[in-house]
Amino acid sequence: MWSADEIARLCYERFSELPKRGKPETGREWTLLAAVVKVSEAPSPDQAEQRRVEKEVVSLGTGTKCIGRSAMSSRGNVLNDSHAEVIARRGFIRYLTEQLRRVVVGEDSSVFCPRDERGKWRLRSGVSFLFFTSHTPCGDASIISMIDSQPQPCLPIRKEEHTNWTDEVPGDTDGGRTLKRQKKGEECRACKCPRLQTEEEEEEEAHRPSEASFEEHSTPARCSAAGPDDQGEDRGPEDLEEHAWDVHRTGAKCVPGAPRDPQLAGQDYHSLGVLRVKPGRGEPTLSLSCSDKLARWAVLGCQGALLSHYLHGPIYLSAVVTGKCSYSLPAMQRALISRCAGVTGLPAGFCVRVPQLLQSSLEFEHSHAQTERRHQHSQGRVSPCGAAISWCAVPDRPLDVTANGYKQGVTRKALGTEKSRSLICKAELFRCFLDLLAVTKNSQLPQSLRGKELKTYWDYKQASQTYQLAWMQLRMQAFSLWLRSPRDLLLFH
Ligand SMILES: [Zn+2]
Repeated sequence: MWSADEIARLCYERFSELPKRGKPETGREWTLLAAVVKVSEAPSPDQAEQRRVEKEVVSLGTGTKCIGRSAMSSRGNVLNDSHAEVIARRGFIRYLTEQLRRVVVGEDSSVFCPRDERGKWRLRSGVSFLFFTSHTPCGDASIISMIDSQPQPCLPIRKEEHTNWTDEVPGDTDGGRTLKRQKKGEECRACKCPRLQTEEEEEEEAHRPSEASFEEHSTPARCSAAGPDDQGEDRGPEDLEEHAWDVHRTGAKCVPGAPRDPQLAGQDYHSLGVLRVKPGRGEPTLSLSCSDKLARWAVLGCQGALLSHYLHGPIYLSAVVTGKCSYSLPAMQRALISRCAGVTGLPAGFCVRVPQLLQSSLEFEHSHAQTERRHQHSQGRVSPCGAAISWCAVPDRPLDVTANGYKQGVTRKALGTEKSRSLICKAELFRCFLDLLAVTKNSQLPQSLRGKELKTYWDYKQASQTYQLAWMQLRMQAFSLWLRSPRDLLLFH
């Protein structure tokens, strides 16, 4: 029907067709890409032939950053979390809202058709959605044993390669795989992955004023040879052998109340299966890691509380396809599926939907690894791209480029105005929902919205009772430590 490579190619092509604005500078900036792909199976007119399958990217996102608590807005007009996966999902909600608007006003939609129940719609037969991500999602899925990792970006380091840890072996003929002491900005010569920062360097970055509240996606893979306590001290061979059994690490920190990472050597560095918040270089963020969010979507669907008013059931992802990067199927299964597998008592229509997990052999041209490979010294330091691109298949303004949670290029004076806000921020998605409500005839109004005095974003979300019930079950049984947005940030209207 489709292959992982076919999906990856489709998403990379869609990205390459977009205008340059917000794209990373090749060889200097890296970014992450995620997308939602619609798969439609149509019965072939000739029964003897295979069913016709159409694939279409309906939402695409890039981005690596996440804002800190103090930059969040009570007006819903800033994007808190700009990791590619979250941008792609928010664009998908925009796309679904537009498809619902079409059916509600009597236009044709390739996605929805009426359901018997008044005011509810369901997916057309043969239509499904799958998720593509160019990289392993941050958080739990990124905690990968070096041994399991396929392909391995960091070669497990063997004892004999380290007889000369601080200096290059004279007459080195092993293609530069021998380690030597590294300085800031240099990369590990065993694996070409960036050296871990020292604590002083992290401090320095944490206090850089322009970026203090804007957090990066964690560096996708870190070198096994340099632990967080590595300050350039010489290491004994026995330490190095231990590190051959190390894990790729995530910068996402355990949520408050969860067992903390033991930070011991090798595979005991991290706690596994724990909810994590996105990494911070200054203040902590309130955004859960992409692993956690994908796990949540596998139970609650991707449509969110608002659109659930209009839908017969949640919209689940049939597959999660990952691009070429350090990847482990067991880690993906643990992070995205196992943690919620035992959740029961979900309301009708909800279930624990296990997506198919696949990896493509095709790498994103702006991945961290590709950028390192193409980097030239004259370009300055390799860094994550500060912009986030959202594109979705809607007729009106499909493209939205942001930086620091607001439209890119907005002046400081214009911050907070309607013009400065992203088309996928909470306030805009709420406005689209209210527009949908405004064109819905009274006779078509979903039951959950009848006879209620609803005003704020929070009111409309809470009124989505079936969705809230499912969320309560998921929280109680699997994700009790999930951080919730302060209510006063959700009372806009
Ligand atoms: Zn992420």
